[in-house]
Amino acid sequence: MARDPRYDILFEPVKIGPVTARNRFYQVPHCTGMGYIRPRTLAAMRGVKAEGGWAVVNTEYNSIHPTSDDLPHPSASLWDDSDVRAHTLMTDAVHEFGSLAGAELWYGGARSANLITRLVSMDVKAMPNTSGQPFSTRAMDKEDIRTFRRWHRRAALRARDAGFDVVYVYATHGYLISNFLNPRVNDRSDEYGGSLENRVRLVRELIEETKDAVGDRCGVAVRFSADEEIGEDGKPIFGERREMFEMLAELPDLWDINIANYSVEMGVSRFTKEATLEPYMEWVKSKTTKPVVTVGRFTSPDTMVSQVKRGITDFIGAARPSIADPFLPKKIEEGRFGEIRECIGCNICYSGDSIGVPIRCTQNPTMGEEWRRGWHPEFAQDTPEEGRVLVVGSGPAGLEAARALGKRGYQVMLAEAKRDIGGRVTREASLPGMSEYIRVRDYREQTLMEMLNVDVFRESKMTAEDVFATEPDHVAIATGSTWRRECFDEEAFYSIAEGEALARVFTPDDIMDGTLPDGPTIVFDQDNYYMGGVIAERVLQEGHEVTYVTEADSVSSWAGNTSERWRVRSHMTRLGIKIETAHSLTHFDGEAATLECAYGGGTREVPVTNVVLVTSRAPNDALYHEILDYAGDEPLPFTLTRIGDAEAPAIIAAAVYAGHRYARELDTEIDIDVPLMHDRVDVGAQPGVVAPARWK
Ligand code: ADP
Ligand code: SF4
Repeated sequence: MARDPRYDILFEPVKIGPVTARNRFYQVPHCTGMGYIRPRTLAAMRGVKAEGGWAVVNTEYNSIHPTSDDLPHPSASLWDDSDVRAHTLMTDAVHEFGSLAGAELWYGGARSANLITRLVSMDVKAMPNTSGQPFSTRAMDKEDIRTFRRWHRRAALRARDAGFDVVYVYATHGYLISNFLNPRVNDRSDEYGGSLENRVRLVRELIEETKDAVGDRCGVAVRFSADEEIGEDGKPIFGERREMFEMLAELPDLWDINIANYSVEMGVSRFTKEATLEPYMEWVKSKTTKPVVTVGRFTSPDTMVSQVKRGITDFIGAARPSIADPFLPKKIEEGRFGEIRECIGCNICYSGDSIGVPIRCTQNPTMGEEWRRGWHPEFAQDTPEEGRVLVVGSGPAGLEAARALGKRGYQVMLAEAKRDIGGRVTREASLPGMSEYIRVRDYREQTLMEMLNVDVFRESKMTAEDVFATEPDHVAIATGSTWRRECFDEEAFYSIAEGEALARVFTPDDIMDGTLPDGPTIVFDQDNYYMGGVIAERVLQEGHEVTYVTEADSVSSWAGNTSERWRVRSHMTRLGIKIETAHSLTHFDGEAATLECAYGGGTREVPVTNVVLVTSRAPNDALYHEILDYAGDEPLPFTLTRIGDAEAPAIIAAAVYAGHRYARELDTEIDIDVPLMHDRVDVGAQPGVVAPARWK
């Protein structure tokens, strides 16, 4: 389909200094958990974004020198020629599709503890590490500042040599350069501290020196925060940011603007909606003639057009929307709106870097698997033979399996017991703040409707007999999981109540089915992700007093990896939910619950009449076993596979991945004894590397 002229503006070229972006779609720097450790994985992933129409594709943060390393969070690096060679894989992959490649130069300062290089971090002053590591920085003297500028310049030259078209001066997010700008951090008395002019000096020098070094070939971008902080009312406090900006406004070739609070800037959809940064951004474009990019989890083409037309931004910046759908620009250009896979704002992508493993995405199961498994987000191999596949269950696993099998050309029957398809995402999306999770279903439902080779059967609860009667060639059991009405002590499951009290013990499934507690309630969280907090809020909406209890030391402890834990806790505090950390729930008699301190502080009784257990889920694999029993000693006339939560309950991203993998691997020869490809240095293929002589 030809492009709708309404969206023409999104496809105008924009100049960034000496280079030109072919349209306004701009993948801002984003971490991947790959960094310098997995260059081939990274290059393939970034290349796919360029193929999907992103005119500028950036790296993640690139350490410019070993005195700035962020492991166990894998950053990229531009330390030496081997980095240049590794980055060339990415720039080649991006250039192949006519896009620009950008490199974000980074120096962590007090935020990096240099755990791998074991070198001392330097910052504007001597201060404790700001990532919670038991280290501190050395105050930079003037020689250090000169040295740092030299490292920055050399890294810029290496970026150019690696083929990058845009090079960043990274002046936000609490890293070194932003600390020089920040009057609360920068208490220096030399020409780099004190007055605004002095605090801006370093970033000014870096912009000028980067332009001098590479400005003839590369656009120089500056990442800058539009606000100083977020006020109590959620409104921006700009402080002196505008004056600062005005002093630098015409120096770089591009401004990449974000906000000071990272957990709002990339907030989860529970708390942060599309285009949230707009109130922070309104003034920026009026102060510079240079192009501006900003983010806002943009997935609606109309919002994008409005942002450009109203002069908020020149580029549609995206990290997450480009992860969920690397082909977002192409789909808009070709009018394939129904095929857009919208980001749900769950931040599972961010958890990869948090944990130190490659990125993954709930909506896009191919993310991070472009190189290792050869998966492409839009294309799959054709089916080698005619085949009928029955998929039982239409949760994330079943839906994705049906979608990807349909795409491969199989005849697919998707059977769902309920009227609504979507399984857990349909149910969870009705909980407070969770509405965007429905996009996991909606994208797939929309796609399935257009596939003539996929039939969806609702209200079709399958028995083993039904499965055989369908005469399929392949059967995927995607029947999901059920929340347990018991707790787990890392060894055994245990019950906390018996008799009538058991009737007052609820699970998230009860809540989602509309069976809610009546009276004061404890929500006991052993899941430690988002569900505990969401359920506590849902019960509170009924007007009951709620106490959230966890054995962990913090609320929603795993959600630290998705950068949402802090916001969950402050949200609960604002709502008036009581919080009890480091306690387990050992007993409930219908009138009181017994809590036991995790650190030997004894037990105490809390008067409540209800308990909701958000503990763990058991696989719904009865149908799988019934099918095996039904066949008895006869071989099955079809292949039988459990996928998603029915195999092993986990996060939604894992279920989508399982469905996708099933579809990709059906009818292909997979030798499970052959390991996956490793994207690591092959020691045998590294000529010239000589180990240092050992101390005798
Ligand atoms: P997953 O996360 O693995 O995709 P979900 O729990 O989200 O799993 O979805 C499982 C889906 O399977 C639910 O919609 C449920 O109604 C459906 N289902 C469970 N058992 C059957 C069955 N026997 N026949 C058809 N559908 C079933
Ligand atoms: Fe969006 Fe979640 Fe995918 Fe990240 S993991 S891009 S937040 S859908």
